[in-house]
Amino acid sequence: MAQQHNLGFPRIGDQRQLKFALENFWQGQSDEAALQSTAQQIRQHNWQLQQHLQQVPVGDFSFYDQVLDMSVTLGNLPARVAQLNGTELDNYFRIARGRSAADSHCGCVAAAEMTKWFDTNYHYIVPEVTADSQFELNPQRLLQQLKQARRQGISAKPVIIGPLTYLALAKSKDGSEPLNLLPRLLPVYSQLLEQLADGGAEWVQVDEPILVTDLDSQWKNAFEQAYHTLKSNRPQLLLTTYFGKLEDNLQLACNLPVAGLHLDVASDQSELNKVLDWLPVHKVLSLGVINGRNIWKADIHAILDWLEPVAERLAERLWLAPSCSLLHVPVDLDSEVALDSEIRNWLAFAKQKLQELDLICQAINLGRDGLDASQQAQLAANRAALQSRRASPRVTNPAVQQAVAAITPQLGQRQSAYAQRVLQQQQTLTLPLYPTTTIGSFPQTSEIRQFRRRFRQGELSAAAYQSYMQQEIEFCIREQEALGLDVLVHGEPERNDMVEYFGEQLDGYAFSRFGWVQSYGSRCVKPPILFGDISRPQPMTVGWAQYAQSLTAKPVKGMLTGPVTILNWSFVRDDQPLQTSCEQLALAIREEVQDLEAAGIQIIQIDEAALREGLPLRRSEWQTYLDWAVNSFRICANGVSDRTQIHTHMCYSEFNDIIRAIAAMDADVITIETSRSDMELLQAFEDFEYPNEIGPGVYDIHSPNIPGQQQIVTLMEKAARRIPAQRLWVNPDCGLKTRQWPEVTPALQAMVAAARQLRQQA
Ligand code: GLN
Ligand code: ZN
Repeated sequence: MAQQHNLGFPRIGDQRQLKFALENFWQGQSDEAALQSTAQQIRQHNWQLQQHLQQVPVGDFSFYDQVLDMSVTLGNLPARVAQLNGTELDNYFRIARGRSAADSHCGCVAAAEMTKWFDTNYHYIVPEVTADSQFELNPQRLLQQLKQARRQGISAKPVIIGPLTYLALAKSKDGSEPLNLLPRLLPVYSQLLEQLADGGAEWVQVDEPILVTDLDSQWKNAFEQAYHTLKSNRPQLLLTTYFGKLEDNLQLACNLPVAGLHLDVASDQSELNKVLDWLPVHKVLSLGVINGRNIWKADIHAILDWLEPVAERLAERLWLAPSCSLLHVPVDLDSEVALDSEIRNWLAFAKQKLQELDLICQAINLGRDGLDASQQAQLAANRAALQSRRASPRVTNPAVQQAVAAITPQLGQRQSAYAQRVLQQQQTLTLPLYPTTTIGSFPQTSEIRQFRRRFRQGELSAAAYQSYMQQEIEFCIREQEALGLDVLVHGEPERNDMVEYFGEQLDGYAFSRFGWVQSYGSRCVKPPILFGDISRPQPMTVGWAQYAQSLTAKPVKGMLTGPVTILNWSFVRDDQPLQTSCEQLALAIREEVQDLEAAGIQIIQIDEAALREGLPLRRSEWQTYLDWAVNSFRICANGVSDRTQIHTHMCYSEFNDIIRAIAAMDADVITIETSRSDMELLQAFEDFEYPNEIGPGVYDIHSPNIPGQQQIVTLMEKAARRIPAQRLWVNPDCGLKTRQWPEVTPALQAMVAAARQLRQQA
C-alpha cells in the first residue's frame, strides 16, 4: 500500500486571515492572544483538510517565515534584538521587519535581510551568522504544534529545515564560512530530533532543497558528516528535496543514512530509474507527483502510467506527495465562483491538489479498475478537463503561433548601434548633463485606489473614471514640472500592479479573485494566470501616455512592463516552453512600444524588475534562460527608430551574474536600485565597461527618510568615478507608489538640487 503525505500547506488562510491578524497586531489594534488564536484556527483548519493523509505536516505554519522560525528554534538570533524588552514574538517581528507592534516599547532595529527562496517568489529572512555564533535549542513552537496536532487526532510529521540548507542560506556577517559552524549546529539538531520523537513524532521531514543546486565537494562531504551524526531510528528522517533534479548529488542523496528520501518528479521523471537503482532497499521513497508550483490540474492518467510500474517495484516503500510545499499555490479553487467556468475546470489550488493526490493514491492501491463509482467519475472528469484544455480554441491562437515561428534575429535589432543612436537622441531630447527622472509610479493615495475600486465594481462610469485619472496625471505632471525634473512620467495611477495591469488587457490571461500566495510576511500576491496564446487586442497605455505628453513640453516616458517580468510574476503554462510564452508576450509588448512611438512618445521605459530572479537554480542552465530572456526583451524594445530612447529598469539585483545579459539587452538607458549598496553595485558595470547610459538610484524608496542634497551629490560623485558622467542619470531607486507626497516632494527637490550642483561642478 502506498501512503500519502504532504510537505506543507499555505498558512495565510483561505481569506488571508493571517495577513489581517498580523497587520492588526502590528498596528496595535489587537493583542498577541488574538493573533495566536487566529493562527491556531488556521492550523486546525489546515490539519482537518489533511486528516486523511498518513503524515500531516506540522511546523509548516509560520507567523512570518519558516527560515526565521528555524533560526528561533536553533537559538540563532541577531545580537541586536537580545537586549530589547518584550516577548519572544516581539523579537521575532523585530528581526523580520525592524519592529514589532506599534504599542510595544520597542527600540526599532534593522530588520534582517530578506531574499528569494530558491527560484520561487517567496522571500525568507536570511539567517545571520558569525564565526562565534552559538546555537541553543528552543523547541517550544514545534513541540506545541505537535501536541496540538496530535490532540486533534492527526498523524503529525514535523517539518524542519535541514542543517546544510540552513547554513547554505545563512549570511556571514564577518566573512567567516557558515559551513564551519556545522559541528556546533549538529548537537542542537540531535536534541531537537530527540525531543520531537519524545513528543510523539515517528517521522520528521528534513528539508534539504540545496541538494538540487550545484554543490562543491566541501558541501557534499558536510552532508555525509551531518547525516552520519544525526543518524537515528527515532524519529525516522525523510530527507526532502524539491524544485529540481539531484543530478550529481543523486548518489549522495540516496546513500545518506536516513529512513526515506523525497524527490520532486512532478514535471521530470528522468532521474527516477537511477534513484530506484541507488536507493537502499530498506528506504522509503516519497515521490512528489503533483506539481506544487503551478495551478494546473494534474494529468492523473499520465501520472498513473509511469507511476504504476514504480509502485509495483516499491510496494510498501512508496509514499506519494505534492512535489514541494503547497505554500506556493493559492488555497482553494472553490472560492473562485466568478472565474470563467471553462478555465476554472482546468485548475487546481492547494486543496484540490490534495484531492488529486488522494485519487492517485487510491488508484495505485486499488488499481484503476478497482476504484469505486465516484472515484471512477473523478478520474473521468480529470481526463475530460485535460482534454477540454488541450482542445480549447481559447488556448491556441494560430496567428500568434505563426508570428512566433516567424521571429528572426532582425526583429530584435535596433537600426544602429548605441554610439550612433545617442547622437540622434541628444538632438531630439536636448537633455542636460545628469538628467533627472523617476522610475514611473507616484504615490498611490487611498483616493486613487478608491477610484479604481469603484470603477472596477461598476459604480463609476468609464468617462468619470477617465476624467479622474486625467486630473491625477495632470497633478503629477505639474508637480514634476515644479520640481524641475527633466524627463517626466505620467505616474501610473491607473495601475493596480505592474504585471496584473498588463495581464488584464492581454488575451490569454485569466484572473482569480482569491488566488493569493504569500510573498513575504503578511504580503501576498495574486499572480495572473497565463493560460493561452498571448495577443494584444488594443493599445494598453497609449491613451494615458499621450494625454500626459499633451500637458507638457518636457519629454514624458511611456511606461511598460517587459515580457520577462510579466512571465516571471505569472502562473505560467505547463503545455509549452517558457521561452515560447515569453516570445508571445514580447510580440504583444512590441506592438505597444510601436504604438507609443507612433503617438509621439520619445522615451519608452520597459521595466524588467524580475529578469534576474528567473535564473534557473543550476548554473548550467543560466545561459539558455538568459539568451531567450534577453532576446525577448530585444524583440519587444527594438522595433523603434534610432531617435526613440529605450529605458529599462531593474530593482536590487546581483548584477555581476547578469551584466553581460544586461549589456546584450542594449537599452539606451538602464535605471537600477543602488543607493543602499553605496554605488558598489556599479562595480559590475564598470568592470564590464558597460557602454550605454545608467541611472543608479540615489535614494532608498523603501524608507520614509528624506535624503539630503549632499548625500545625493556624494553618491553621484562615487558613481562618476566608475561611469563617465556623460552617461549618468539621476533618479530614485525605484517607483514611488508606496510613498506619500510629503515624503516624495522634498526627496525629489533634494535630488534635482543635487543634479544642478553636479552640473555646476562639472
Ligand atoms: N515603473 C514601476 C514603478 O515605478 C517599476 C516598479 C518596479 O520596478 N518594481 O512602480
Ligand atoms: Zn524597481
